[in-house]
Amino acid sequence: MHELSIAQSILNTVLQEKTSRQLPHILKIVVHIGALSDVVPDALKFGFDAIKQDTALAETELHIEIIPVSGHCKACGNDFDVQNFVFTCPHCQSGQIQMVRGDELHIAYLEVEETPSTGTDSS
Ligand SMILES: [Zn+2]
Repeated sequence: MHELSIAQSILNTVLQEKTSRQLPHILKIVVHIGALSDVVPDALKFGFDAIKQDTALAETELHIEIIPVSGHCKACGNDFDVQNFVFTCPHCQSGQIQMVRGDELHIAYLEVEETPSTGTDSS
């Protein structure tokens, strides 16, 4: 299963990061997936939830954001977001489109728990 191996590599990367930067509890991992990638977000989330058990990230939520495809028109130089997989320039209707992004998959950022200042004030 494609998504499971991606989930595994995300988990490994974040676990490594957590150790090397001595991060406190990680609440959320935000992953950006290009709209053109063949990753199924639900499957990725499901895979991650399955393998995170028994790791330091068992309580961590995987949050997936879909990044729209950007196109660059070679004819008129227009940059635009590709809607509904229509690869035509909305400005001049040219079909000479260069994909700027859309198939990437990367960890955008980690949401880390604020460490409460321990000590003096007791409530
Ligand atoms: Zn154009």
